[in-house]
Amino acid sequence: ELDGRVVRPGDGDYAEARQLFQPRYDSVAPGAVAYPAHAGDVAVCLDFARRSAARVVPRGGGHGYAGWSTVDAGLVVDLGAMAGVAVEGDEVHVGAGARLADVHAALAGRGLGVPAGLCPSVGIAGLTLGGGLGIASRAHGTTSDRLTGARVVTPDGVVREAGPDRDPELFWALRGGGGGNFGVVTEFRLRTHPVGDAAFAELHWAGADSAAVVRGWQRWLGGLADPFWSQAEFTVEAGSAAALAVRAVCLDGRAELERELSRLAGLVGRGPRDSWITVRSYGNTVRALAGCPGGGPERCRLPGRLPGRDPRGLLGRDSYAARSDFWGGPGLPDAAVGAVLDALGRYGREVPPGGTGVVQFDGVCGGAVNRVPAGATAFVHRDSAFLAQYLAYWPPSATPAEATRHQDWLDGLWRALRPWAGGRAYQNYADPKLTGWREAYYGPNLARLEQVRRTYDPERLLRFPQAV
Ligand SMILES: Cc1cc2nc3c(=O)[nH]c(=O)nc-3n(C[C@H](O)[C@H](O)[C@H](O)COP(=O)(O)OP(=O)(O)OC[C@H]3O[C@@H](n4cnc5c(N)ncnc54)[C@H](O)[C@@H]3O)c2cc1C
Repeated sequence: ELDGRVVRPGDGDYAEARQLFQPRYDSVAPGAVAYPAHAGDVAVCLDFARRSAARVVPRGGGHGYAGWSTVDAGLVVDLGAMAGVAVEGDEVHVGAGARLADVHAALAGRGLGVPAGLCPSVGIAGLTLGGGLGIASRAHGTTSDRLTGARVVTPDGVVREAGPDRDPELFWALRGGGGGNFGVVTEFRLRTHPVGDAAFAELHWAGADSAAVVRGWQRWLGGLADPFWSQAEFTVEAGSAAALAVRAVCLDGRAELERELSRLAGLVGRGPRDSWITVRSYGNTVRALAGCPGGGPERCRLPGRLPGRDPRGLLGRDSYAARSDFWGGPGLPDAAVGAVLDALGRYGREVPPGGTGVVQFDGVCGGAVNRVPAGATAFVHRDSAFLAQYLAYWPPSATPAEATRHQDWLDGLWRALRPWAGGRAYQNYADPKLTGWREAYYGPNLARLEQVRRTYDPERLLRFPQAV
C-alpha cells in the first residue's frame, strides 16, 4: 500500500535496515522497516499499526541512545527517504530523514546555518524534537528554538501543519518534548542565521593542572559572550592517565578568541602546555569538528545502500552508554571535581582494556538558550551554566559481561556526583536507568506535555519506556 519501500526479514537489505547507530542494538528484529515516500505513506503506516495493534516507532538518524527507534516484531517507520533540504527565504525546509551533515552542507554553501549538533549522521528529527544543542546554541538558541513549523502525522492518521497558529499546543510540545511522542514529523521548517568565519582553538594543560583547569574553565564560561562555545573534555583509556582538552569556537573573529583565551589562562593560574587556533569558514569548522573524512559529502555517511547511507560512506558505529547532568550556577564545586578525577583515575582498574571513558563539560547553555522562558517551549533547560555528559565506550569485541563493567564504571561516576548535581538531564541523551526522568527531562513542563499527549495520542499508539 506504500509508494515507498518496505524491508522485511529475509529481504537482502534487512540486516542493514534493522541497524541503529549502536551495534549493541543489532539483535533487535523489527517485523518490517518502512521507508515512506511522503506524509501519506506515514499515515498508512500508522493506520496499519492502529488496526493490527502492532508496535510502531519512528526513526530519523537512528542515533537515539536507548535504542527506542527500533522495536522487536513491530514496524519501524524510517524517514530516511524524506531527506530533502530546501532553503526558502530565511527558512529551511528539512525532510525529517535528513542527517545533520545534509543540513549543515546545504546551508553552508549559502552562507547560512541553523544551530545544531555536530555528529554528521545524527538525524535532524530526534535532535530537534529533544532540543538540539551545539556550537551555535549560545548565539542562536536550540535547534528547536528555530522551529517555525512542522508537518506531523498524528496517531489518528491526520497530516497536520503545526505552527504558532495551527495546533499550537502540538507545536509547543514538538520544541523539546522529545522524539517519539505525539506524532511522526515528516518535515521541519527552521529559521536560518547567517554564518561567516569561525575561529577554533584547542588547548592542553599538564595532567596535574586538571582540577585548576576545570575550576578556571567554569568561571571563564560564565563570562563569555554569546558567539562563543567551549568544551572541556577528559578522555581516558586503560593503561594511561586521563587527558584533558579544552576546545573553543568563536563566531566573532580570532582577536576576540585570543583575548578570551588569555582570560582563561589567568583564571586557571597558568597557560596551557600547548594550544592552536584555526580560522575557517563556519561550514568547514563544522565538518572538521564533526570528524568528516576528506573528499565528497558521500564519504561523511554511514556505509550502506538504504536511505540515509552511502556505499562510499566512511563513518563508523559505536557502542556506549551515557548519562548527563545540566549544571547550574557556579558548576561543580571542588569536591565534585575531585570525584570526577577519582573516577577517571579508577578507570583502568575497573574496566577491561579496549574502551574509552569520557567526561565532557559542554558550554552549550547560556546566551540565547537561556533568554527563552522555561515554559515558552517544551525545552525546559533555560537556567543552566553547561551540560555534562559522561560516556563509557566499549569495543566491538566486548562480551556482555565486559560491557556491563564499562557501564558500572559510568554508573559509579554518575552516583558519585549526585550530592552536587541539580537533577536535570538532557532528554536527547536518553538514559534508561534514570528513574526520575520525567522531572529531569521536563520539569514543570511535564503536565502540559502530558495534556498534549492525551489530546493527540489518547490510545498511546506511540510508546516506549520513557514516552510522555
Ligand atoms: C554521536 C552522537 C552525537 C550527538 N551529538 C549531539 C549534539 O551535539 N547535540 C545534541 O543536542 N544532541 C546530540 N546527540 C544526541 C541526539 O540529539 C539524539 O540521540 C537524537 O535523539 C538522535 O536523533 P536521531 O533522529 O538520529 O535518532 P533516532 O534514534 O532515529 O530517534 C530518536 C527518538 O526520536 C524519535 N523520532 C525519530 N524520528 C522521528 C520523527 N520523524 N518524528 C517523531 N519522532 C521521531 C524516535 O522514535 C526516537 O524515540 C548526539 C548523539 C550521538 C549518537
